[in-house]
Amino acid sequence: MIWEGNLLKMRATHNRPVSYSLDNGSFPVLLNQLLGSEVKLEYMNRINCIRCGKTTRTSFGQGYCYPCFLAAPETEDCVLRPELCRAHLGESRDMDYARSHCLIEHCVYLADSGGIKVGVTRHTQVPVRWIDQGATAAVRIARTPDRYTAGSIEVALKPVFSDKTNWRNMLRFRGINSATLLENKEKAWRYLPEEFQPFYENDDDICEIDYPVIRYPESVTSVSLDKTHAISGMLLAIIGQYLVWADGKCLNIRKHSGYLVRITAG
Ligand SMILES: [Zn+2]
Repeated sequence: MIWEGNLLKMRATHNRPVSYSLDNGSFPVLLNQLLGSEVKLEYMNRINCIRCGKTTRTSFGQGYCYPCFLAAPETEDCVLRPELCRAHLGESRDMDYARSHCLIEHCVYLADSGGIKVGVTRHTQVPVRWIDQGATAAVRIARTPDRYTAGSIEVALKPVFSDKTNWRNMLRFRGINSATLLENKEKAWRYLPEEFQPFYENDDDICEIDYPVIRYPESVTSVSLDKTHAISGMLLAIIGQYLVWADGKCLNIRKHSGYLVRITAG
């Protein structure tokens, strides 16, 4: 099989294990089927902006050319820092976008992605957001009417929980420990400022996620396509947005959005 296309975030479906595909290139590729095969990924030295398609020397904000990075609603500050969202005040780069992305129900959650972290996502992104982060388990802690409120809750909980994922820990084997997650949810309740208590989520349902993995790598090295133009070997695992090869090399696909690559397998 030879596939060519510009990388985009892998599409993930919550099966056991998660099914991954790349569906914007020559043809849709079901990546789970490539596990255990020799897979070579080569960078073709071209990046196309994932919004306007123009060639760009450097990728900004995971796949944008500089003008799009400055103008697109997808790269506004509140994407990474929801507490900065001003859509509820009628301010945004694009209010139509804000009405469908910021002024809708959001979920504040705790996820085990190699450590317990707090995060925020649109309700429509559950559980995809958790899969993208490589979480093995997640639980909702609050349900809010907009992005700003969810972001404010996250900020209030930052002294108690990390909001970062450590990718090395994320790529290690972890069991699913539902009890720990629920203990942390109780802790979140204890630290939740009173003004946010009405948004607390009583549903303690734990979403468990397992990944297509032949075995977990002993050590991992993250590869940047700007420096390493080809990776090859047996494909060992897909976790979060990472492809992991048998020698421990791993590639964050989302980070390389827009990069034109050729994948040869079999
Ligand atoms: Zn562009």
